[in-house]
Amino acid sequence: ATANIGVVGLAVMGSNLARNLASREGNTVAIFNRSHDKTEHLVAEHPEAEFVPTFSYEEFAASLTVPRTAIIMVKAGAGTDAVIEELLKVFEPGDIIVDGGNALFTDTIRREKAVRETGVNFVGMGVSGGEEGALLGPSLMPGGSDESWVTLGPILRSIAAVAEGEPCVTHVGHDGAGHFVKMVHNGIEYADMQVIAEAYDLIRRATGKTPAEIADIFAEWNTGDLESYLIEITAEVLRQVDADTDKPLVDIIVDQAGAKGTGGWTAQTAIDLGVPASGIAEAVFARSLSSHPEQRATTGVLPGPAEEFTAFDADAFVEQVRLALYASKIVAYSQGFDIIRAGAAHYGWTIDLGTVAAIWRGGCIIRARFLNRITEAYAESADLPVLMTAPFFREALAASQDAWRAIVATAAASGIPSPVFSSSLAYYDGLRAGRLPAALIQGQRDFFGAHTYKRVDKDGTFHTLWSGDRSEVEAVDTH
Ligand code: NDP
Repeated sequence: ATANIGVVGLAVMGSNLARNLASREGNTVAIFNRSHDKTEHLVAEHPEAEFVPTFSYEEFAASLTVPRTAIIMVKAGAGTDAVIEELLKVFEPGDIIVDGGNALFTDTIRREKAVRETGVNFVGMGVSGGEEGALLGPSLMPGGSDESWVTLGPILRSIAAVAEGEPCVTHVGHDGAGHFVKMVHNGIEYADMQVIAEAYDLIRRATGKTPAEIADIFAEWNTGDLESYLIEITAEVLRQVDADTDKPLVDIIVDQAGAKGTGGWTAQTAIDLGVPASGIAEAVFARSLSSHPEQRATTGVLPGPAEEFTAFDADAFVEQVRLALYASKIVAYSQGFDIIRAGAAHYGWTIDLGTVAAIWRGGCIIRARFLNRITEAYAESADLPVLMTAPFFREALAASQDAWRAIVATAAASGIPSPVFSSSLAYYDGLRAGRLPAALIQGQRDFFGAHTYKRVDKDGTFHTLWSGDRSEVEAVDTH
């Protein structure tokens, strides 16, 4: 046995991760892929890398030092289960199987439980950063047992992205915690992309600026509070000119956004946990709305405002949009961290929220300086019930709320859709409200379903005899 780590699955992600591992001092990497040509190809293309190519699971296991450690990078779902089954035939108690694919966290919980019974450790690990991240340094979110982290920690630290001197990896929590956190990362990513898209749309429609001019605005924004990978690439995309037509590429791309499902999982999980993650959910719905051309009434079927809106002062409008974007982004991240907090409580994970923000500063798609503020907020108050109530974010929201309201009002009056800007504002005002009309909803529920209600002035559970004399009775608590 000569390899200290193995990779199973050598499509783009697995090959790049294997190359990343092999490039670090002290690593020798056993590689295996179901179709042998991928293994041969990788070895032939990269003679510089310390690979041990293997062509059966037996050979793969025999080439690994104990405890054997294998990272699976195969198509999530049935592929993952098939590889685990094969590895369990050749691995021994104490060995470690890491699933780096995009697994649904509940699958990871199930797999961890089943694999643990064999004595082998199973670690579900979120990997963010796409192909380039896998090769040069991803943000890594491993779950699994403490025992496995002892072996995995140094290896993963050596290949992760580095942000401000720290590797972007931590032992997130037990069993499915890593994949859970990766899922929420993607949900936040959906919202972050959508608020950027809304900002672009508002500026373009209200000021008539060209995509190239708006690219300059984003490049400028990238030097301030909004500095992030997504803002940076937005400028690049907007500046791109189509070679065939000489038009801005953004005008040539079909306006139907695809999705691979992780944003939807985040919204679904938020609903299951009862967490109001409206910005993230709206971002998912915005993509689904875009991708149903048969539902989009583009030919004036549905009436809109009589006149198009034109900003009187373009520069002032752009600044208001920037502030609205910043405020909506704070809401999206706040909601995302609230989902992680609720998930940790529900599934019994100990997750350090500040460290999660820290490991997203490098390697991953939502990497941004802004994440330091989240780490600081949780360092000051680890039990913050709502992230955006931390002083830094409260001040940022105080400074941006007037512009945010103005932009949402303008968007509504002028018929420019801004689903995440506006739903985030509604969420913000919902949290601020002293009293909510939820009281009326409780009254309605009691009326039609005898669902009972609480009173503000005394303890107990009550019901009004709506179809009787409408007197109130104390309800017997059946729980
Ligand atoms: P794919 O998701 O396209 O999967 C292809 C790989 O899976 C091939 O190596 C294939 O082997 C293998 N495979 C599929 N079914 C089986 C099976 N039943 N038994 C054994 N091997 C099987 O590869 P990617 O590299 O794009 O992604 C790998 C994983 O990483 C996925 O789970 C993906 O969701 C995740 N991921 C991807 C990111 C990205 O940006 N692309 C980012 C982060 C995670 P064969 O060659 O024999 O067909």
